[in-house]
Amino acid sequence: MSEGCVFCRIAQRQIPVEPVYEDTEFIAFRDMHPQAPVHVLLIPKTHYATFMDIQDEGLLGRALLAVQRTAQAAGLADTGFRTVINHREDGGQTVYHVHWHILGGRFMNWPPG
Ligand code: AMP
Ligand code: ZN
Repeated sequence: MSEGCVFCRIAQRQIPVEPVYEDTEFIAFRDMHPQAPVHVLLIPKTHYATFMDIQDEGLLGRALLAVQRTAQAAGLADTGFRTVINHREDGGQTVYHVHWHILGGRFMNWPPG
């Protein structure tokens, strides 16, 4: 738990959310400012400020499996989705607890903005 981290507070259930997916290590919940009809955030329950702070290949692998399971639970596996990690300033990261965005329910334009 990192003091003042909003996603740690969600992981600890100090801020209530309706999980889209959850296991012992990860929780997925809906983004409060959705950028698509379906916009879910997947976080590890342990605090890592950014993607580059995770060195554990097992954790990274399990995170991608959790992305698959979250997309399935959100009903996006067949129609498609985009998963995004925004890393630091140029990536547009605003919350410094690593998270995967999972976006779907409409066609995703390319290139992204
Ligand atoms: P990023 O810009 O990649 O750091 O994404 C952070 C995302 O977290 C944004 O899309 C916010 O809308 C979302 N967000 C921030 N606080 C909350 C919250 N309490 N509940 C749900 N989503 C949140
Ligand atoms: Zn945190």
